[in-house]
Amino acid sequence: MENKIILVTGGTGLVGKAIEKTINNDSRSDEKWIFVGSKDADLTNKESTQELFKKYKPTHVIHLAAMVGGLYHNMAHNLDFLRKNIHMNDNVLQTAHENNVVKVISCLSTCIFPDKTTYPIDETMIHNGPPHSSNYGYSYAKRLIDVSNRGYFEQHSRIYTSVIPCNVFGPYDNFNEKSSHVIPGLMRKLYDLMQQQQQDNSEDKIFTVLGSGKPLRQFIYSLDLAKLFIWVLREYNSVEPIILSVDESQEVTIAQVAQSIANAFDFKGNIIFDVNAADGQYKKTASNLKLRSYLPDFKFTNFNDAIKETVDWYRVNYHEARN
Ligand code: NDP
Repeated sequence: MENKIILVTGGTGLVGKAIEKTINNDSRSDEKWIFVGSKDADLTNKESTQELFKKYKPTHVIHLAAMVGGLYHNMAHNLDFLRKNIHMNDNVLQTAHENNVVKVISCLSTCIFPDKTTYPIDETMIHNGPPHSSNYGYSYAKRLIDVSNRGYFEQHSRIYTSVIPCNVFGPYDNFNEKSSHVIPGLMRKLYDLMQQQQQDNSEDKIFTVLGSGKPLRQFIYSLDLAKLFIWVLREYNSVEPIILSVDESQEVTIAQVAQSIANAFDFKGNIIFDVNAADGQYKKTASNLKLRSYLPDFKFTNFNDAIKETVDWYRVNYHEARN
């Protein structure tokens, strides 16, 4: 008997695809999952959003849809990130409320926290100061989700909550040179370089990584994040946001990321760092103590293993991947 109908917006993206794969191995008879992308509805448009909710009549929503991109894409399009995300978030939350949806889980990000802060960052610090100037549009739009959730609770007693993932990577990511995040961007670059190397029959190619390689980041494998999303849907019942991140001890430098990708591709050339390119925020170390208080034994996939799985997926799916 299905009594939960769970609509996943952004269901065609990196995180959505990972949740779909994970739920196929962890299905419950009282849950029906529906995954939708931008072809099913344009969530920046209110009428289109209303049609979607009318069609599927969800009781629960995981709201992943967003304009998402890496550092350089954000820097060039802050206004678009702000407006598109504000429109999508307001349409989804208000339409969910109008249709009596009992629970909505939206997605913030550790990169929306104040630029000047103490570390580690935790859930209480979201609004404590301006975000990094590189992605203020995305950041303010995301922060408003938390503000809205509190309003829906105060005025309408809704449990609409948000999760705060660290940087995500995995199969089905966006590998486009201009708009990707750092991991898929580097994978794409190295894949192309090695193809070129094969064509030229040379082995002296140089893998150039933008920035100094020094910034620190926490990365979560999309399939680990998917398990945590499903746990939040089933077990976490608070409006207060919760950080979904690997442990602080699992933080890595961009140089380590580049090396791990090079190893996964079995790249034999040199890696160099273009220090003239922007680094973005030096670090954004987040504490997952709140998550650990609920799930002390949760095991995150080893970073190098997850990179290898993603590279293997990309090699096989290069032509269908978002390039
Ligand atoms: P992707 O870029 O992989 O996917 C974005 C999704 O949003 C796609 O399914 C896309 O649909 C959908 N979408 C975009 N615009 C619209 C629109 N106008 N109407 C309807 N759907 C739309 O994103 P991720 O999976 O990486 O991100 C999921 C969530 O996680 C986002 O909210 C993001 O902010 C958050 N997040 C991501 C992190 C990361 O490192 N990737 C880190 C922290 C948080 P389609 O493909 O069909 O066009």
